[in-house]
Amino acid sequence: QCFNDLHLSRPLCRACEKLGYATPTPIQAAIIPIALTGRDVCGRAQTGSGKTAAFALPLLERMLHRPKNAVSAIHVVIMVPTRELAVQCAQMIQRLGEYTNVQVATIVGGLSMERQAAALRQRPEIVVATPGRLIDHVRNTHSFGFEDVAAVVLDEADRLLEMGFLEEIKEIVRNMPRQRQTLLFSATLTSAVEELASLSMRNPARLSA
Ligand code: AMP
Repeated sequence: QCFNDLHLSRPLCRACEKLGYATPTPIQAAIIPIALTGRDVCGRAQTGSGKTAAFALPLLERMLHRPKNAVSAIHVVIMVPTRELAVQCAQMIQRLGEYTNVQVATIVGGLSMERQAAALRQRPEIVVATPGRLIDHVRNTHSFGFEDVAAVVLDEADRLLEMGFLEEIKEIVRNMPRQRQTLLFSATLTSAVEELASLSMRNPARLSA
C-alpha cells in the first residue's frame, strides 16, 4: 500500500514523499481512513509507530477541505505531556503541512506568554500544547478559546495522566464543542486512560499497533 491509496491530497502526498515515507506504517494504514471520516479514534500506539503522522495527516486533509474564514480559523488542538514532545510534534506537523498553508503554534511552559499570546491571536489552525499552559492563555491572556475547536488529539494519554493533567484535560474537553473529533493515543490503556477515553470520546474506533 502507498500513501496515494489513502486518499490524501497531493500536497500531503508530496510532503510524505519528501520525508521519505514510501509506505504507511501499520497504525497509519489503520487510522488514516477512519480518522478521515471524522470518527473518534482510541489508539494504542508507542512512540516510533508513526502515530504523529497517523493523526496529523487526516486532520490536515480535513482542514484542506474546510472553508477558511477568520472566525473559525482554529481547528485543531493537540495535547501532549511535555515541552519536548510539543516541539517534536509541531515540527513533524510543519513538515507534513509544508505544501499547505496551515499554521502551527507551539504553546508550552517556560517560554514567553506574550509571544505565545501573539502567536495565538494570529489564529493558527493547529495548536500543539501542554495542558497547563494552554489553560493559562485561556484564563490570563484571553488569546485562545475552545469554542472553535473542531478536533482534539490527546497524545500519550497515559503520560498526560501521570503528569497530573487530568483536571486540566477535563476542563479543556468540557469547554470544547460537543460536535468535534477526538483522537486519543496511549502506549498503555490503563483504567485511568479508559476513563479519560469515555469522558472525551463518543463511540471511538479502537485500534492498536
Ligand atoms: P512517531 O511514532 O510519530 O514519533 O514517528 C516515529 C518516526 O517514524 C518519525 O521519525 C517519523 O518521521 C517516522 N515515520 C512516520 N511515518 C513513517 C512512514 N510511513 N515511513 C517511514 N518513516 C515514518
